[in-house]
Amino acid sequence: MADPHLGDVPAAEFRAAMHRVADLVADYLEHVADYPVLSRARPGDVRAALPAVPPRDPEPLEAILADYRRLIEPNLTHWNHPGFMAYFGITGSGPGILGETLAAGLNVNAMLWRTSPAATELEDLVTDWLRQMLGLPEGYRGHINDTASVSTFVALGAARDRTPGLEVRERGLAGRPDVPPLVIYASEQAHSSVDKAAIALGLGIAGLRKVPVDAAFRMDAGALETMLAEDRARGRLPIAVVATAGTTSTTSLDPLAAIAAICRREALWLHVDAAYAGSAAICPEFRPLFDGIEAADSVVVNPHKWLFTPVDCSVLLVREPAALRAAFSLVPEYLRTDEEGVTNLMDYGIQLGRRFRALKLWMVIRAFGVRGLRDRIRHHIGLARELEGWIRAEPGFEVVAPVPFSVVCFRLARGATGEAQDAANDRLLAAVNAAGPVFLSATTLRGRRVLRVAIGNLRTRREHVATAWALIREAAARV
Ligand SMILES: *Cc1c(COP(=O)(O)O)cnc(C)c1O
Repeated sequence: MADPHLGDVPAAEFRAAMHRVADLVADYLEHVADYPVLSRARPGDVRAALPAVPPRDPEPLEAILADYRRLIEPNLTHWNHPGFMAYFGITGSGPGILGETLAAGLNVNAMLWRTSPAATELEDLVTDWLRQMLGLPEGYRGHINDTASVSTFVALGAARDRTPGLEVRERGLAGRPDVPPLVIYASEQAHSSVDKAAIALGLGIAGLRKVPVDAAFRMDAGALETMLAEDRARGRLPIAVVATAGTTSTTSLDPLAAIAAICRREALWLHVDAAYAGSAAICPEFRPLFDGIEAADSVVVNPHKWLFTPVDCSVLLVREPAALRAAFSLVPEYLRTDEEGVTNLMDYGIQLGRRFRALKLWMVIRAFGVRGLRDRIRHHIGLARELEGWIRAEPGFEVVAPVPFSVVCFRLARGATGEAQDAANDRLLAAVNAAGPVFLSATTLRGRRVLRVAIGNLRTRREHVATAWALIREAAARV
């Protein structure tokens, strides 16, 4: 007979706790706006409130959940809060949370088709749905990674691997006088994940060249051409260009078609980082902004940023999936089982084991429908444009970058010098964030402090944007 003290917690206790968790989550989402969005915890508070040593004896789930409610939930910065307008939002939606919960229950590990047939096939299917929604041509294969940082790393790894004559996969890069310095190009406004990929791929920071941007923070394609010619003349070997469609500071878009033409001519891998803004391409009216993306070798879009899917879920779409397999699969090509038509997800990146992330994305797309997702994105873009109008009409403020999507970059332009203006903007940001209802972030553009309002949260309505603007104006009068 089974020892009642071994095995999982008693089924009845688990069931009751699971119901309680359903209520905790639903209550949280209904009342999240009652919290200050930015945590008021001081460093060390949470840890000091919890026992320093693990419990010797079992504790009831009910007691653990009570501590969750008392100590964990209140001591967070609330990304689900309608006033969360910092960075880029991540919003867990109801359907996304259901998918995440079911995936936790199943706890499958989709490394091989046979270890998780439905997880593997759903991932192939749902990333193809996303491809269609984005208007990308057939042929791209989608793969879910945890983050855009990993998607970009994997894509650039494939670019490095397919460079003729290097045999990096077999021979590595170190100690090889026959290998010239390899170079990747991205704009000055590209995300730091490109720098990290250059570090991890053995190119080093010096192996990533930052291409200057124009007045609207877009990569200067002419400058890219000049840098490529310079580098080739100096014996360096360009391997890839990362174009950003929706930069992290201002959501500017690099000129994808011009960059794609250069990449084609120079036989370079083109990776498009559309981690945030790619989601807007599901709306036909915004698709022209992405013209040229269909020539990319790889594209990353994060449904966990602006497609209402809980973190983490980053989709990497690759035009030549064989390039990923060539870089990362450890099954020799002659032993492949492709003719049976099965996908083994472990062949497309660094990870062996992987979570069932496709489930939540599938549930989100089904529950909102493509139409519902489009409408929500349009709503956010509309709110951002309205806010942009309010700021432009306000003396003493300036909008400092175009607003193609749902992020507005602006600053208080008051003060005798640039430094004085920066300090005033820092005080303004601190005052607004201390108030409680909203959380904004800042960036630096052309050496000057700039404030950002990023709208991307499912719960954000016009009244929340109006509150943010009222708080900004109020604080501006005081700083
Ligand atoms: C957020 C962001 C990233 C990094 O995303 P992670 O998924 O957190 O790694 C990369 N590029 C751009 C343009 C981003 O906005």
